[in-house]
Amino acid sequence: MILSVITLFPKMFDRVFEHSIISRAVKSKKVSIKIYNLADFAQSTNSSRKILDSPPYGGGPGMVLRPEPLYNAVNKIKENNLPNESKVILLSPQGKTYDFTKAKNISMEKSVILVCGHYEGLDQRFIDLCIDEELSIGDYILSGGEIPAMVLIDSVTRLLLGVLGNDNSNKNDSFSEGNFYLKGPVYSRPREFLGLTVPKVLLNGNHKEIENWRAEESQKKTRDNRPDLLN
Ligand code: SAM
Repeated sequence: MILSVITLFPKMFDRVFEHSIISRAVKSKKVSIKIYNLADFAQSTNSSRKILDSPPYGGGPGMVLRPEPLYNAVNKIKENNLPNESKVILLSPQGKTYDFTKAKNISMEKSVILVCGHYEGLDQRFIDLCIDEELSIGDYILSGGEIPAMVLIDSVTRLLLGVLGNDNSNKNDSFSEGNFYLKGPVYSRPREFLGLTVPKVLLNGNHKEIENWRAEESQKKTRDNRPDLLN
């Protein structure tokens, strides 16, 4: 899978994917992550300043990303990758809410181009012409689409076959297909820590009892923290 990112701040991505699961996925070529600087697709003024943003028509605060560099960037990246099979996603607070199902659907794509906005947002004509889907990572405002793009890349990469040591690992994750409940508590060594002990049921080796206990704890966690999921 190819994940391309268009951003005003490519350096933000410098070290992010050099660790843990994502770095292994990149090394084993399960995923290729390409970061593109929007400025490389913009024209320069006489003073060699890149023309990337302008004030909004109709007035108002902040600047708006102009359509030309964004349009050039998407089309050039499509040409380089898979022209007819690249899905273009805009990270945007006005998008549909990103969740496990959306991550799963994106993980089936061959090539995805992620567009990171900034300032007041992007010229609507670029969105109308080039964007297949707008996605929001939650009901709050971040300064740019870079962190949402990182969230999407991490969560999608985990779902690619062969990326996790055991492909069944994410089947037990909260929100995964068929899981209506959040994952319950987990315990490790030592048996006692600052007076708190591991629940006895986890020590008795009875798999049926352990399974039942885990199911009850999952339901309890969901009722306490996310009752909305039970609907
Ligand atoms: N004025 C805009 C509004 O009220 O919706 C906020 C723009 S925000 C400061 C700049 C950029 O950050 C957006 O264009 C988008 O790319 C990104 N962004 C901010 N919050 C986001 C969120 N919750 N999910 C996805 N992207 C987000």
